[in-house]
Amino acid sequence: MEVNSIHDTNEEDKVIDLAFQHLLDTYMRSKHRKKKDVIVRAFNFAKQAHKGARRRSGEPYILHPIAVAQIVCENIGLGSTSICAALLHDVVEDTDYSVEDIQNIFGQKVAMIVDGLTKISGGIFGNHASEQAENFKKLLLTMSEDIRVILIKMADRLHNMRTLGSMIPSKQYKIAGETLYIYAPLAHRLGLNSIKTELEDLSFRYEHPEEYQQIQDQLIQTEAERDTVFAEFTAPIRKKLDTMGIGYEIKQRVKSPYSIWNKMQTKHVPFEEIYDILAVRIIYDSMDAKTELTDCFNIYIQLSQIYESHPERLRDWINHPKANGYQALHATLMSKKGEWIEVQIRSRHMDEIAEQGFAAHWKYKEGDDNQNDEGELDKWLKTIKEILDDPQPNAIEFLETIKLNLYASEIFVFTPKGELKTMPQNCTALDFAFSIHTFLGSHCIGAKVNHKLVPLSHKLHSGDQVEILTSKSQHVQPNWIEFATTAKAKNKILAILRREQREIQKQGEDVLEDFFKLQNLEDNQSNLDKLVQLHDCHDKDELCLLIGSGKVTLGDEDVRAMNQNGNKRNWKRLLTTIPFVNRKKEQPQATSSDTTVLEKIDPKRPITLNEDTLQRHYIIADCCSPIPGDDVLGFVDEQGKVTIHKRQCSEAIKLKASKGRSIVAAIWDTHKVLQFPTHLSVRGIDRIGLLHDVTDILSGNLGVNIQKLTIEVKDGIFEGEIKLFVHDVDDIKSIMQQLKKVEGLRTISRIS
Ligand code: MN
Repeated sequence: MEVNSIHDTNEEDKVIDLAFQHLLDTYMRSKHRKKKDVIVRAFNFAKQAHKGARRRSGEPYILHPIAVAQIVCENIGLGSTSICAALLHDVVEDTDYSVEDIQNIFGQKVAMIVDGLTKISGGIFGNHASEQAENFKKLLLTMSEDIRVILIKMADRLHNMRTLGSMIPSKQYKIAGETLYIYAPLAHRLGLNSIKTELEDLSFRYEHPEEYQQIQDQLIQTEAERDTVFAEFTAPIRKKLDTMGIGYEIKQRVKSPYSIWNKMQTKHVPFEEIYDILAVRIIYDSMDAKTELTDCFNIYIQLSQIYESHPERLRDWINHPKANGYQALHATLMSKKGEWIEVQIRSRHMDEIAEQGFAAHWKYKEGDDNQNDEGELDKWLKTIKEILDDPQPNAIEFLETIKLNLYASEIFVFTPKGELKTMPQNCTALDFAFSIHTFLGSHCIGAKVNHKLVPLSHKLHSGDQVEILTSKSQHVQPNWIEFATTAKAKNKILAILRREQREIQKQGEDVLEDFFKLQNLEDNQSNLDKLVQLHDCHDKDELCLLIGSGKVTLGDEDVRAMNQNGNKRNWKRLLTTIPFVNRKKEQPQATSSDTTVLEKIDPKRPITLNEDTLQRHYIIADCCSPIPGDDVLGFVDEQGKVTIHKRQCSEAIKLKASKGRSIVAAIWDTHKVLQFPTHLSVRGIDRIGLLHDVTDILSGNLGVNIQKLTIEVKDGIFEGEIKLFVHDVDDIKSIMQQLKKVEGLRTISRIS
């Protein structure tokens, strides 16, 4: 009776059945073979296994696997095996059933996928860096086994993001941060465009609720205007396409709130100055598969007869698909009102791949002997495997290496024989050498780009012809790591350097051993410590490296140090183990009584930032310099010290992803007493007296304390950076409002 008063079982059963029926309907409408029975069995099994369990939101647990299966079917376009695995994905982890049970009932394939999903559960990021990399490696390994594991994991993450509201705030930041750090880039790389966009928008919404809302509002306010532009721009296009006799659909593509915000942040411009919010998408149906590609160009030719086409902004992803499988022709056309509008032309088939990703259309290799046709996705998976084969000692380095490859956009370069190679943007000649062959990379001395000699650090551009020059006597140089940009090159360079280092180190070890024997000294820890200490090394490895490379020669002084019984060593060790706690900002009044206060931090409760706590307990991060009114959060270190970062701070995003459990939510409660440093950037058309007007407003009218002012005038454009002290975000807003009144000033934005 009591239970029923909280959860109406009948009502809930109805909701569950409706959700499952919706999934079945979606599946039956898809192009897959109709294996309805096994899906029904998986549903019944999962429902019974999760019986009585609830999600944090209070709803029956089974609704989560159903929702994940729905995404797998509808947004990723996968078939019955994946739908079953999605329905069963939490069974092994959360109930008493084992992988064997699943295998017995649903067969090996489903069981293998569920097993993969169970292994990577619990988030990519554990509490420790090593754990983090291990989990991430597991994820990538299972991905290269069967990509469906990672695709279902994506769907799982998407549903968890959609239901993030019922989590405690500190968990929300951790999950949102992790999503932005790794899942969205992965979704991008796998071509899961709609999922990537939704993941980014959801993360953004939780990280910056106010800014998200503001952009949403502005999008709604400008909607009617966009509709008019769209209707006027596309009317002549429709007429042309009708005469071509081709089936088509024209859609508005509106930039996502996250992308808009991202552009505002990186270009320091307000919403009004984002000009590519609207793009036009033409999806055509080819009568014949053979003409699919040429149809696309024919459409473009028709369009260029109506509108002027921007000569430098034609992107041919038709003949050269992106690494994630994306195919389309992008052109930028001048509307009759003089605005540039991007038009994306793609076939129905290309559109499906663009939205759902390549994987859904990817042939699984079973019984397929046509292995020659290696798709871009396979190539990428192969790179991942290569990186995994080479164990990296540093976990964060490993993550960064993989991440490098996730967001890179591509350029095309040619070999001397005219072969086309896809490379990431901003890559160097050295990267290119390594992409062709490790030998070429490790022995290259320079390159010829378009027949001109260039250094290895030379940045490549689309269309370049690149010839790599090698010499057998050349070796990998440590500074190469600075201008290698691809994961593959970086990884190879590090691996070769490490291998060479190990050899030198081994030589050093031998020398050290002989030295101990010769001097009749004991080869023990205490003696080693003394030597390590004497030569200012971190450990034995470093010492051996110095000895091996001849930078350290062992002699009398070493013998003396080992024969001494002083406690000098202990003293120095003690010094180096004192925790680093931002000494600069540490307040003198931070006494032991503060520590007791600090220990009480409850990660489930937001901390309050006011005049008192800010001066006594919390540290404002230098990297992003948050001020009252900013969306912020706190990171608690092992000593219980809390550092306050802006939520969008890139440092914070990294910390969030790696040290999730030590995040605390923070709220401001200041009263315009303390002042904080902040940076403004101003830009406009230069005129005599402009600088005077700016400083006049700042120090005269507003009485603001300016710390630094730098101005540059180039080709009549005035650009300046102002560092000043303010109380809070409101101060900045009123300063910006005042500055807007200065004649000639076009943009004023906050940098940090
Ligand atoms: Mn799940």
